[in-house]
Amino acid sequence: MPSAYLDHAATTPMRPEAVAAMLAFLTDRFGNPSGSHSLARSARLALDEARDVMAEALGAAPGQVVFTSGGTEADNLAIGGVHAARGGVVVCPAAEHHAVLHAVAAAGGTVVGVGRDGSVDLGELAEALGPQTTLVSVMLANNEVGVVSPLGEVIALVRERAPEALVHTDAVQGFSWLDVARLAADADLVSVSAHKFGGPKGVGALVVRDRVALRPILHGGGQERDRRSGTPNVAGIVSMAAAAQATLATRPETVSRVSALRDRLTDGLLEAVPDVVATGADSGSVGAPRVGAPSVGTPRVGAPRVAGSCHLRFTGVEAEALLVLLDDAGVCASAGSACSSGATEASHVLRAMGWTTAEVGSSVRLSLGWCSTAAEVDHALAVIPKAVARLRDAVFSLG
Ligand code: PLP
Repeated sequence: MPSAYLDHAATTPMRPEAVAAMLAFLTDRFGNPSGSHSLARSARLALDEARDVMAEALGAAPGQVVFTSGGTEADNLAIGGVHAARGGVVVCPAAEHHAVLHAVAAAGGTVVGVGRDGSVDLGELAEALGPQTTLVSVMLANNEVGVVSPLGEVIALVRERAPEALVHTDAVQGFSWLDVARLAADADLVSVSAHKFGGPKGVGALVVRDRVALRPILHGGGQERDRRSGTPNVAGIVSMAAAAQATLATRPETVSRVSALRDRLTDGLLEAVPDVVATGADSGSVGAPRVGAPSVGTPRVGAPRVAGSCHLRFTGVEAEALLVLLDDAGVCASAGSACSSGATEASHVLRAMGWTTAEVGSSVRLSLGWCSTAAEVDHALAVIPKAVARLRDAVFSLG
């Protein structure tokens, strides 16, 4: 294990409860839940129980929960499925995850701008809405800068300007920190992904409210009430439900503990490193009162962020080089959005926020999670200022 894992927004370690829950379904209870014999019924029972848990966690009825292979499939089913059923124009902001942006592009939809803090530009969204709009997709929390969307305002605007349109929210980065059941209660479709909250990779869910007309994007045996064909990943689904339960049981304490750690990390770096800017510096995390270190350095103003998010810009430092030094020193962090090759590409989120190429290239995401510790923050605070100074000295001596 690294000395400081600060990439929980990419994926977070599995919770022990989630690991324990899945084992029986990888061994003895291996039945296919679509069958009729006892082994099949045993798997189906577990699937039904997991559906009940996820429904409660997401503020939905069990029949409204569709299990998927993760957040990407949930987003694609929401957007592609509604567009296939209803046509019209689908709309999303430019800082959405590619799973939404590319699905909207595939449906020939409209992309609206975001503000400098990364949250949707409500004025631009209002202008884009009309009788032709069939779906609006706005994420609950952003995966790069952690900004929390004003989802209530988005939904009110959509209901007023495009009453026939549905609202989808990608809550993949929200579930660990925010009460998704409450915040997304008025959304028509809600996506989550297990590996962001302590479950396994390759499993997720989409809430589809009863009023939503949806065409499946996967065709086959008609599982998930004909909304998602394919033998369900029973072990993964059961494990996701266990992770959701553990998340819900500890969420308020986790939010307040982790936001305090995040604030200590941010404030410590603002104090120790010259010319560093905290992205979307805010007045606290959503879901918890602000606790921890007093505000120092850059004034905290701007939109709320989730508790685990620390996004910084080190002026004049090449983020890629910094990540290599940090990795050598046992700190795992990231910049931009990881793409499938493992390389990073210039962040479309930061570009959409109006950042210059230099600003995009010098920013780093340090994301904390449910199991982050004070020792990890101490290690990061010891290592990062030295690494930044080393890179700046190198540039200086070359220049
Ligand atoms: N949506 C957001 C906001 C994400 O952060 C991610 C993953 O990074 C996804 C969707 C895709 O989820 P998955 O990795 O489960 O396909």
